[in-house]
Amino acid sequence: MEDSRVIILIDADAFFAAIEQRDHPEYRGKPVIVGARPGTRGVVSTCSYEARKYGVRSAMPISQAYRLCPHGIYLPPNFKVYSEVSKAMFEICEKYTPIVEPVSIDEGYLDVTPSDGVSIARKIREEIRETLGMTVTAGVSYCRYLAKMAAEENKPDGLGVVTRENALDFLNDLPVGKLPGVGPRTVETLLQHGVRTCGDLRTMPPAWFEKTFGKFGTRLYELAFGIDDTPVGVWRAAKSVSEETTFEEDQTDKEFLIAVLARLSQDVGFRLRESRYSARTVSIKVRYSNFDTITRAKSLPAPVSSDPDIFQAAKDLFEKLQSGRPVRLLGVGASNLSDQGVAQPMLLGGKSWDKASQAVDALRKKYGKKVINLGAAIRK
Ligand SMILES: [Mg+2]
Repeated sequence: MEDSRVIILIDADAFFAAIEQRDHPEYRGKPVIVGARPGTRGVVSTCSYEARKYGVRSAMPISQAYRLCPHGIYLPPNFKVYSEVSKAMFEICEKYTPIVEPVSIDEGYLDVTPSDGVSIARKIREEIRETLGMTVTAGVSYCRYLAKMAAEENKPDGLGVVTRENALDFLNDLPVGKLPGVGPRTVETLLQHGVRTCGDLRTMPPAWFEKTFGKFGTRLYELAFGIDDTPVGVWRAAKSVSEETTFEEDQTDKEFLIAVLARLSQDVGFRLRESRYSARTVSIKVRYSNFDTITRAKSLPAPVSSDPDIFQAAKDLFEKLQSGRPVRLLGVGASNLSDQGVAQPMLLGGKSWDKASQAVDALRKKYGKKVINLGAAIRK
């Protein structure tokens, strides 16, 4: 077929935990949990496959992880080492093609058209294992999302291949929630229509897709049939998610405003995770009492979708303003979205997040859920 591309997804297995096990032989074969300190309100960033046996997962509250696996080895993340390994991993990929698009610290797409994707994926896996001492899973296909799903189904330390010939067979029994952009709410709607698997999806009449899901319906139809022309290596920045709130009275209390940022970050994070997006840019919007409105944005080294990550970026931006002026409106936004699923949390809560989210909880308890939208009332 003349238009056939060859796309590889490379995804490191339990990346942070694997690096810790590589560097500390005494951790090998044991449940390793990289993330916040037990006893804090943070989350699990990555855990080893040994820890997953106990039900521990990425993004799970660390307290829950600790209940499931109290004898685990709990480690704080060492991002300096992780980013060095990440850089080395992508350099290996770049030996095989100039078209490499990292989508997170440990995951990236390669376009190797018209080479033999399977043999390149094998070589890359081997080279990463030999030189970096860790395993990656690869997916090879003619389009992005099937490369991703092929890898997903073959984790850890695997190599999955989906061809045009077997694409529909491959998709047939997979639950619809595995498709990119299909979050729990869409899954729920699909279930109500009797659709559980990607195979079920194909039995629906073409007109139903758009009728039920609007514009996304067209995309869903294509995903059901193994169609995806999304290129590799091109910046896709169209979508964004944002939340904002206007106060009835202007606010100057910095702690309160930070708590509002925390609350807005939670809402943005929830919406991102719900649609299985992660964002590479976080922005804030501030309107002052005289209606001057400014926005500030920050690009992050890797896509984020956890509340603390979004909050930290928003808080940094807000603190840089150092205005102290009365604020009428606050907003938090996330853009440069990638639809490759929820990102591993980079930050894990920490003091600043704990404090802010406790402030949100306290306000919520006192004034009910809508409290933050009634900012003026709280200040009285
Ligand atoms: Mg990974």
